[in-house]
Amino acid sequence: MRTEKLYIKGQWKDSAAGDYFDVLNPADGSLVGKMAAAGKEEVLEAIAAADQAFEEWSNLPAQVRSGYMKKWHELLQEKEEIIARTLTAEQGKPLEEALGEVRSGTSYVEWYAEEAKRVYGETIPASSSPKRIMVLRQPVGVTAAITPWNFPASMVARKISPAIAAGCPVILKPAEKTPFSAVEIIKLAHEAGIPKGVIALLAGSAELIGDTLLEDRRVRKITFTGSTDVGKALMKQSADTVKRVSLELGGHAPYIVFDDADLDKAAEELMGVKIKNCGQTCVSANRLYVQESVEKELVQKLSEAFSKIKIGNGFDKDTQMGPLIDGDAYRKVQEHVEDALSKGAKLVTGGEGFHKGDHDQAGYYYKPTILVDVTADMKIMKEETFGPVLPIQRFTTEEEAIQLANNSRYGLASYVFTESLNRGIRVSEKLEFGIVGLNDGSPGTAQAPFGGFKESGLEREGGHFGIESFLEVKYVSISMK
Ligand code: NAP
Repeated sequence: MRTEKLYIKGQWKDSAAGDYFDVLNPADGSLVGKMAAAGKEEVLEAIAAADQAFEEWSNLPAQVRSGYMKKWHELLQEKEEIIARTLTAEQGKPLEEALGEVRSGTSYVEWYAEEAKRVYGETIPASSSPKRIMVLRQPVGVTAAITPWNFPASMVARKISPAIAAGCPVILKPAEKTPFSAVEIIKLAHEAGIPKGVIALLAGSAELIGDTLLEDRRVRKITFTGSTDVGKALMKQSADTVKRVSLELGGHAPYIVFDDADLDKAAEELMGVKIKNCGQTCVSANRLYVQESVEKELVQKLSEAFSKIKIGNGFDKDTQMGPLIDGDAYRKVQEHVEDALSKGAKLVTGGEGFHKGDHDQAGYYYKPTILVDVTADMKIMKEETFGPVLPIQRFTTEEEAIQLANNSRYGLASYVFTESLNRGIRVSEKLEFGIVGLNDGSPGTAQAPFGGFKESGLEREGGHFGIESFLEVKYVSISMK
């Protein structure tokens, strides 16, 4: 069993108040370890250290910051197996999938190590001859980063890397259920020699840490990934000190399959985006809309594939899908399925789960489930289920599919399957979503902008867009009279 510390001012520290919390394995409720919890004093200490580090870190030549990040990237690659094992132990996903997540996170560190060198300013032609207009882009300052449990490794790398590349020190608060992946990642940042104060890791009470970070004027930016409700609350809290805000929030992705689609491909890609992480992803296919003439064939293909999925402990070699994160997640999935069935949906496969072990908050598994004849009034068609359940609704026309897909308060990812180029482009342009996977079930990658419309968030992560939200624009007006 491990006991991990807080990371403040370049040092690993025990909790000053002696507070530690348990981290459980969701597969069976066994204790993975204990994590130190930060008190208010420790949060303030991390803010002061970050504030102090800001000037020196941001004034380093970009090549030097990039050099530290390249070293960090190298170490992350070397130690990927250790991070992946930690991830599976505290989060439950199959080891192979955990390794994929770690590699995805690592690719952001590499991307932003390069991007650090490309923060360009501009000169603008002035309207009178003795004047010059110069535009600089400068780091926004100390950044608070708050991450969720569903991607506890990649979200940490995805947030810290553009921030430090831009010159902003980061104070990270990982999710309470999964702090150890973050600990492993930050240990390597320390080993890479990233100077003290540039990165801090604080675990513990979300309210205490969140409130202290958000009330403080020295913290100039918050970058958050998590639920829409918490994101909205943080946005309101940020208003008092007018912090810059980046939000990556919930989603309710439509997956549209037209009658001219390659159905084998549509089914195969769907398995990836639905079964991955036991359906606990923000870009999971939440609702499948299929054109009526191909519904029967597609449901048949999916039903065969769903019923073959091996469920179990993420460390078992043949496991394809692990447990849900906890008992509350299990009960939410059950509630959505029961609500749909009570309103007329029909069960094709799955529809039940099981519990392993005797811990009341861990060891919850749910069988991959397909429901047909669903309608827009069911909870599952409006709220994130965060489980391996696929509700299917048929449609007749292209316009109807677009209207059904856009009828959501969310706007993160969407998917369209068609072999018609014209239709693919037409529908992609009309979808009110930040991401469209056109015949593609896995669009996420370090060089592309990831983020949502509507209540799915603000700003983007990834690509050259991702560093923008850590930069201020300064205009210098020069008179040479
Ligand atoms: P969550 O409950 O909103 O928690 C996310 C993070 O916020 C955790 O670190 C949590 O800490 C912290 N938090 C909770 N209340 C807080 C408060 N009052 N002040 C400061 N921090 C607070 O979300 P989750 O259940 O972990 O994650 C699932 C959600 O994230 C889903 O909605 C999913 O769609 C979304 N998500 C979005 C993306 C994206 O890129 N758009 C990616 C992944 C996940 P504790 O853990 O300590 O409570």
